[in-house]
Amino acid sequence: MPRHPNQPLLLTPGPVSVSRTTREAMMTDRPAGDVEFQEDLSFARRYLVSLVGGGEAYTAIPLPGSATYANEGVIASLVPDGGKLLLHSNGVYGDRLVEICTHLRVEHSVVRTPPFTPPSAELFEQMLRADPGITHVMLVHCETSTGVLNPLEGVAALCRAYSKGLLVDAVASFGAIPLDARRLGFQAVTLSSNKCMQGVPGVGWAVVHRQALENAKGQCRSLALDLWDHNQHMDRTGGFRFTPPTHVVAAFAQACREHAAEGGAHARLARYSGNWQRLVDGMRQMGFTAVVPDRFASPIVATFREPTHPAFSFQALFDGMKQRGFIIFPGRLALADTFRIGCMGDVTEHDIGEALQAVAETLAAMGVTQFGRDEVALIDRQ
Ligand SMILES: *Cc1c(COP(=O)(O)O)cnc(C)c1O
Repeated sequence: MPRHPNQPLLLTPGPVSVSRTTREAMMTDRPAGDVEFQEDLSFARRYLVSLVGGGEAYTAIPLPGSATYANEGVIASLVPDGGKLLLHSNGVYGDRLVEICTHLRVEHSVVRTPPFTPPSAELFEQMLRADPGITHVMLVHCETSTGVLNPLEGVAALCRAYSKGLLVDAVASFGAIPLDARRLGFQAVTLSSNKCMQGVPGVGWAVVHRQALENAKGQCRSLALDLWDHNQHMDRTGGFRFTPPTHVVAAFAQACREHAAEGGAHARLARYSGNWQRLVDGMRQMGFTAVVPDRFASPIVATFREPTHPAFSFQALFDGMKQRGFIIFPGRLALADTFRIGCMGDVTEHDIGEALQAVAETLAAMGVTQFGRDEVALIDRQ
């Protein structure tokens, strides 16, 4: 009997499970000019700015779409013609930023590092020294395809020292890993309405420094993604320039209220960290190997090596978990023979305990016993 008959628990890196109350906030159809809708929108914008301590210096701009729309909007709006963006990639989301630049024809260079470790800040410094043409740097804070946390503090310090505009893809970290605009000095961070904020998916947000945005007036390569234009319209009218995603915004405002009620980013980080530790401990006890060394891991998602046991198949594990009410996620690209289990969303340590039980039952049903331990040393040597 599934644990969540009509509502499987998503243990995935997005979309994530949201609370019933957040889902229920979508039950009203609202027109664009509706006062309550505009109050929700205005509250959500202020709440996001307050989460980074941005005060009057920052503004929050929603773009209908997934968080890639926000990343694309930030690059298209803030990197001017003649500017050059330094990108880093150690996974799928770093690669996607490169793809965005290629499509937008934004000049860029890329520093690549292997998927299981973060790069050193020195690597960025070498690039900045070697190429004075670089005007902006964009970093994926938490690389969701592995769970690796990249060195935001160090890169931010370099951007201040070398006077480069810092753009942060914080899509997998915003809301759970505290970000301080005054200390980091970023021009923009992006986030999703879903993921660690636990709203429903459908809006990508950018929190942008107002002066950087003002400097970007008229330079965006896209109409629908023009952050300057959306922001001035929203500041002036209180609403969206185009058809607003009213249900998603209503759910997001509720998700923000629940984020605040939980105790903000610190409390959410504590809960996710508890989830992550319980998950990794429990999986290790069964013989699984976590691919990312613990010191580089973020408590958002954990990546595990598939056991080499002949009776194991990811599909059977996935199906067994689904039957028991839990959705897990396959690995990506370079990470063949891995799979991921998410720790974010409306998920508690108790839920993780039940998920571990479901893994154990599924393995037993598959006939998979006694595996894994010999692989630990191998991964650590990479
Ligand atoms: C989820 C995510 C994105 C956005 O991906 P979408 O497919 O547009 O939702 C971007 N960067 C990171 C780090 C992410 O985790």
